Amino acid sequence: MNRKILQAAVIGSGVMGSRIACHFANVGIPVLLLDVVPSSLNETEDRAGLTLDHPKVRNRIINDALQAAIKSSPSPLYDAKAVGLIQTGNLTDDFHRLTSADWIVEVIVERLDIKRQLFERIDTVRKPGSLVTSNTSGIPLHLMAEGRSADFAAHFCGTHFFNPPRYLRLLEIIPQPAVKPEVVDFLMDFGDRMLGKTTVLCKDTPAFIANRIGVFGIMALFHSMERHNLSIDDVDKLTGPLIGRPKSATFRTCDVVGLDTLVHVAKGVAANCPGDESAAAFAIPGFIEQMVKNNWLGSKTGQGFYKKEKIPGKKDQILSLNLKSLEYGAAVKQRFPVLETTKNLDKLSDRLKALVSAKDEAGAFMREMFAGLFHYVGHRIPEIAEDAYKIDEAMKAGFGWELGPFEYWDALGYETGLALMQEAKLEPAAWILAMKSQSSPRFYSHQDGRKQHYAPSTGSFEPIPGTEHFLLLDSFRGKTPVWKNAGCTLHDIGDGILNLEFHTKMNTIGGEIISGLNKSIQIAEESFKGLVISNEAPNFTAGANLGMIFMMAAEGEWDELNMAIRAFQQAMMRVRYSAVPVVVAPHNMTLGGGCEMSLHADRVQAHAELYMGLVEFGVGVIPGGGGTKEFALRASDAYFEGDLELATLRNRFLTIGQAKVSTSAQEAFHLGYLRPGTDGITLNRNRLLADAKQACQNLSEKGYKQPVKRKNVKVLGRSGLGMIYAGANSMFSGNYISEHDRKISEKLGYVMCGGDLSMPQLVTEDYLLDLEREAFLSLCGERKTQERMQSILTGGKVLRN
Ligand code: NAD
Repeated sequence: MNRKILQAAVIGSGVMGSRIACHFANVGIPVLLLDVVPSSLNETEDRAGLTLDHPKVRNRIINDALQAAIKSSPSPLYDAKAVGLIQTGNLTDDFHRLTSADWIVEVIVERLDIKRQLFERIDTVRKPGSLVTSNTSGIPLHLMAEGRSADFAAHFCGTHFFNPPRYLRLLEIIPQPAVKPEVVDFLMDFGDRMLGKTTVLCKDTPAFIANRIGVFGIMALFHSMERHNLSIDDVDKLTGPLIGRPKSATFRTCDVVGLDTLVHVAKGVAANCPGDESAAAFAIPGFIEQMVKNNWLGSKTGQGFYKKEKIPGKKDQILSLNLKSLEYGAAVKQRFPVLETTKNLDKLSDRLKALVSAKDEAGAFMREMFAGLFHYVGHRIPEIAEDAYKIDEAMKAGFGWELGPFEYWDALGYETGLALMQEAKLEPAAWILAMKSQSSPRFYSHQDGRKQHYAPSTGSFEPIPGTEHFLLLDSFRGKTPVWKNAGCTLHDIGDGILNLEFHTKMNTIGGEIISGLNKSIQIAEESFKGLVISNEAPNFTAGANLGMIFMMAAEGEWDELNMAIRAFQQAMMRVRYSAVPVVVAPHNMTLGGGCEMSLHADRVQAHAELYMGLVEFGVGVIPGGGGTKEFALRASDAYFEGDLELATLRNRFLTIGQAKVSTSAQEAFHLGYLRPGTDGITLNRNRLLADAKQACQNLSEKGYKQPVKRKNVKVLGRSGLGMIYAGANSMFSGNYISEHDRKISEKLGYVMCGGDLSMPQLVTEDYLLDLEREAFLSLCGERKTQERMQSILTGGKVLRN
């Protein structure tokens, strides 16, 4: 069946429903959002003499909820304009409108009786064949389908989004016995390609996959931290980025999720999973019971494990809860000797190995934590999933872990995992022990660019279903790279395409990456069809290596700095002017030099979550790697007959001058970092490299020709300069910017206008690059610029001096 979702409907506009509707709008699907009619007037309505029949009142709950979601941070929308795709209504007057929906998502309160009443009504209006799904966190799907028409039941299953739905990648798909396989296949594929999610097929078991494992992990820590005498600050230190998990670690995550939700899931598992050998872990400790009684549920009630204390005239102080006394106080942190070792270990697997073999209390805690986790997930197969990879995918996409439980196990080694369990007196699952017959037991291997998983049912490695279109750099690590240096690696990713991967700290761009870039283009020109620049680090790049620039500036090494900037500019020009197509595939943070690299690509294939910007103003300079030149060039290309060119120039100038960073790839188009008609967006992160490679192949197959260097960049000279100087001056006089900001603005304007020319002229790119470099160097000589750089380097703070 060729199923299409041309119109969606979301019922329930609370925390989840309003944001799920926004995500449909993000990907261009019109959506009808419905909620209940209020049962009483609020004060404003009462004062205005409105009655309960007034349309404004009837849609108040829904409209207020949508507004609250749109204004919330981080934004649920890629682009504020997308809200135009969301129509609102209420469940009394607008219910009939559900007839036109191809997919109805139920996102109302977590109560079986209320959900069932709603489904009974939906059954009377939905069009045959349309999909109906529930976002329930744990109500068995088969109970919700009971009593419904055959067509309803055949098209009904669970679609469990995680909060916040735009940002958390996991979408659990939960079939119930009567659903057609076609519906499940469709949702698995649609969620992946169209909504950008990692779709994981679950069984209809309590809390499904991610919450079952995630809540087990948290509950187990509640018990073990008491044994190891650790504070909540200690646990957050040990269970955050140190082990490849989000900064919010354990207790901040609990505060965000809400303790009530956590307790609800834990009690649900304890009550409904009688066969769970680790059920004791789900027992609610006394301190949690007390916190719930006190309404200390986390962010939603203003305090949980942490509490913000306002001190007049000072920065807010974050207090943490002492779980023994239940009193808030300043953070209590122990010094664990092993952290002295791990702070020098960049690779997660190295840190994990150091942690589990440490002699201090942190080591004992880690050994117990991983033993418990490995034991628990081992025994959940096949209860909650047939295969281990589903658990790993769910934990990475739903809880933001860098590695799933079985990937942690691979990182530590199969035997180490068994030894940890033996120490903790835990018995591994039978299928885990059966793996011993393998020559070198592990849960994953890589073959031909694809990740293979160990399937317990066959005892062999098999491709992960649904990943045919994913391409992961991990899969190429087993092969000898085409070339590498300390900062980057060049992989042959097949079909004549190369990929350059960065691996410096924060992926900052310094001499190694610049020489790697030149070398990669040279190798590609000699023997390949094209080059992709992408990596799988948390961020594409934080920009140029500021430390290096600062050192040269502080020591007055102007010739060296001039050479370094020229090399940067020339490398960017090679990205644009080479005999093979170069595709850049940025994701997440792509700042400064990373943005400049993208600006020079033949094509950018960006991940939807793209925070791209030319942020050089913050460190007291202008973009010096061709970014300023490129913005002048793009302004020139945007001028049209009869255009008031000054306005076009001003917009481009302000994007750099205000260091604007996109909040999504869609916004990067509006800001002029990405080009309509040339650059593209990939919604699913796992497909980014494959899409970029395909784009590179397409360019090559169409007969790629090296572009000719531009000699016709129109610059406005003094007429543009007049506007920019006057603008900068009035901003300074009005106290909106500092004197140093004015100076940087003038330098930026000078380059973008082509210098002090008496009239508009056509200039070459090289001419603009020279101006750009001169301006950059002169700003590096300013004390205030060096202070700005130092502030970022030492404390990560933007100094507005
Ligand atoms: P919420 O309390 O924020 O919103 C619930 C919505 O249901 C409200 O808009 C409310 O007006 C509506 N509602 C209440 N009574 C109703 C009725 N009788 N008929 C129709 N609508 C009614 O809840 P939420 O957090 O958005 O959760 C909604 C669903 O999503 C639940 O099933 C929950 O388990 C699930 N879920 C929540 C999260 C989360 O983090 N909050 C995550 C995943 C899944």
